[in-house]
Amino acid sequence: MQGKNMPGVNGSGPMWSQLLNMEPPDSPVDSPEGELMMGYRNSGMESLDYEVVESLAYREDQAQRGIWHHASYITLKWVFALLIGILTGLAAFFINIAVENFSGWKFAATFAVMKHSYFLGLITYVAFNGALVFSSVYIITQFAPAAAGSGIPEIKAYLNGIDTPGILLFRTLIGKILGSIGSVGGGLALGKEGPLVHTGACIASVLGQGGSTKYNVNPKWLRRFKNDRDRRDLVTCGCAAGVAAAFRSPVGGVLFALEEVTSWWRSQLLWRVFFTSAVVAVVVRTAMGWCKTGSCGHFSSGGFIIWDISGGQDDYSFFELLPMAMLGAIGGLLGALFNQLTIWISTWRRNVVHRKGNRVKIIEVLLVSLITSLLSFGLPMMTSCKPCPDPAKYPDVVCPRPSHSYGNYVNFFCSNENEYNDLATIFFNTQDDAIRNLFSTNTPHEYTTRSLLTFLVMFFSLAVLTYGTAVPSGQFVPGIMIGATYGRLVGILVVNASSKDSVDEGTYALLGAASFLGGSMRMTVSLCVIMVEITNNLQLLPLIMLVLLISKAVGDAFNNGFYEEQVKLRSLPLLDSRPQRFMRTLAAKDAISTRKVVQFSRVSKIGHIVSVLRSTNHNGYPVVDKLPTGEPVVIGLILRSHLLALLQAKADFQHTSIPGDIPGQIKFRYDVRDFTKPVSSKGVSIYEINISPQEMEMFIDLQPFVNPTPYIVPEDMSLTKVYNLFRQLGLRHICVVPRPSQVVGVITRKDLLPEVLEERDSLEEIMSSRG
Ligand code: ATP
Ligand code: MG
Repeated sequence: MQGKNMPGVNGSGPMWSQLLNMEPPDSPVDSPEGELMMGYRNSGMESLDYEVVESLAYREDQAQRGIWHHASYITLKWVFALLIGILTGLAAFFINIAVENFSGWKFAATFAVMKHSYFLGLITYVAFNGALVFSSVYIITQFAPAAAGSGIPEIKAYLNGIDTPGILLFRTLIGKILGSIGSVGGGLALGKEGPLVHTGACIASVLGQGGSTKYNVNPKWLRRFKNDRDRRDLVTCGCAAGVAAAFRSPVGGVLFALEEVTSWWRSQLLWRVFFTSAVVAVVVRTAMGWCKTGSCGHFSSGGFIIWDISGGQDDYSFFELLPMAMLGAIGGLLGALFNQLTIWISTWRRNVVHRKGNRVKIIEVLLVSLITSLLSFGLPMMTSCKPCPDPAKYPDVVCPRPSHSYGNYVNFFCSNENEYNDLATIFFNTQDDAIRNLFSTNTPHEYTTRSLLTFLVMFFSLAVLTYGTAVPSGQFVPGIMIGATYGRLVGILVVNASSKDSVDEGTYALLGAASFLGGSMRMTVSLCVIMVEITNNLQLLPLIMLVLLISKAVGDAFNNGFYEEQVKLRSLPLLDSRPQRFMRTLAAKDAISTRKVVQFSRVSKIGHIVSVLRSTNHNGYPVVDKLPTGEPVVIGLILRSHLLALLQAKADFQHTSIPGDIPGQIKFRYDVRDFTKPVSSKGVSIYEINISPQEMEMFIDLQPFVNPTPYIVPEDMSLTKVYNLFRQLGLRHICVVPRPSQVVGVITRKDLLPEVLEERDSLEEIMSSRG
């Protein structure tokens, strides 16, 4: 790598003036570029800068700061992790209270009206759902469009290094919270967990943003994380916090962030994420304690996902492994089918329906709501009721329950008093309660095969239809409901085939839920832990693992996981963890564009910089100097955002093209961090900066601000290696150079061991000379 130690970098000579008048760059529009590339460029999605630019200015700045600076930085990061945990926990609590209360009022009103007229009851139910769903879609279309959908694909992309416009804004956060209350409370076939992950990420990002310049609330200490690198860490904490809050599953949250959303992981991050998840668990528990006295209206502990099925099957016989493996295979098939159908429908929706504007989006969601309400009210009405189980045989079963009850064995539209409506307990209910009923143990033969099949087909279709509409939506809860239904169906078959009493349908429902989530989302470790945490039953761990492995393997044979497919569908330029096979035969030089490299000379004219920044939209420019021998040498790479910050601050503009005295004597009259820290990609635009004609004639010495050691690869390096380097280090730019002409030394692993380094006599001298 070339850097400040290259001879001649600091030298000045007669060649300077020649370098200043470099040719203007090619216009990006004229350059040969594929359609796909143009699409990516015009999408407004920019990469994030995770690399620390160790420029001279940065190093000098760091050298001046003491140990306290570092200690306060670390402390502040932990404080932020704590705040993310508390706020995400409270947001989840608020969403749950609101959803449960709206649902409660909805069912109470519907049942009250139904006493007089079933038809009016239906109207009440449809109107309530319609109003809630309308509030959600209205907020999304008018106020926070980026809050539609689950948000997980975009967060995944963010943590991979690509920023989708608007995805982490404060208004998106508010839209997500209010929108998911409407969409979940309105009974649509979607859940609130994906949105909660997005909510956690938004909270983290908003905190890391460092206040608001608009409202003048941006103290210095709050701005310390206002850069892509630190915000990435905070957003990771936010994602884990979201899952931890949604499922009350702290370890599951950590693993979900690790397995599904992040692209880079460090051990220090693990501790912080773990801490945030633990904080969420405590906050949620404490907040639920406030509601014990009944002061939270319809909200009870039931509103938070936790389905205790510890009363179920705790052992299994060998023959049961076959139906359980079968569940895994069904999960893989149905999960892959679900993914494929959602891709088709989402593509159609994006290309046809959503192009027609917000009004169509609103009508579409209202139609889906109407269909959902009619089916969930109408189908239980058409189902014939079943007689309650024999109390002598099942003394624990409460049957029938009154129709306005949320438990199982509900008497809904039954002619006989001693009967219950099995379809109503899962279809005409809140989703959390429906899942609790599906998982219920020691209630054999509670559901008829017909009811379960009806629900499976209808709910699967509704979930496919609903995903992608303009409301916040999560896929976990619908997935659990679909899986639990066919799991229970398989359970019925096993109960009928087996002579043993120990076989429990509820256990099969749980395994079914795991299998569908595994088949659709293709996660294994995190799903397994989440399933164990939400059901409080550790005994089933090996079975859940088996089912997940099979369903993932079967699903993988057909298509990618749900989120990967959604990432592709949204054309997010995500770098997968593995490079493609064909890259092995290619080299770095095959991937670079044919366009001429746009670069700056070390001392550049302000007018030239402005014209280059206006005519190109690159984000990194190599900076070149001349050796005393006259040969050009690359002294580093300068970021567009740093150039903009320099121009805006008019930092160190000078009247001559003679380079300044460097290093050690940089006289900064500005906040040096503006030009040195990894900046936020959302900076000012070149068109917002005012520069007078006199200033245009001035010069600036770029050397203190360049990244003197950008990542550089020889042009023959295999593309697989380049890809891995890029992905593993989270880079934004790699410079490609010809083969180097000489090697000054070789470093091996042992050279880098601190004790070996300390042994070197010359080390102290070098360190003191470099400050
Ligand atoms: P980002 O997400 O960082 O905005 P991008 O793909 O939009 O990435 P640009 O900086 O706009 O990147 O670059 C567009 C193309 O131009 C890339 O193919 C890259 O190879 C090439 N390129 C990037 N920087 C330069 C430069 N300084 N001179 C010439 N070509 C460049
Ligand atoms: Mg770009």
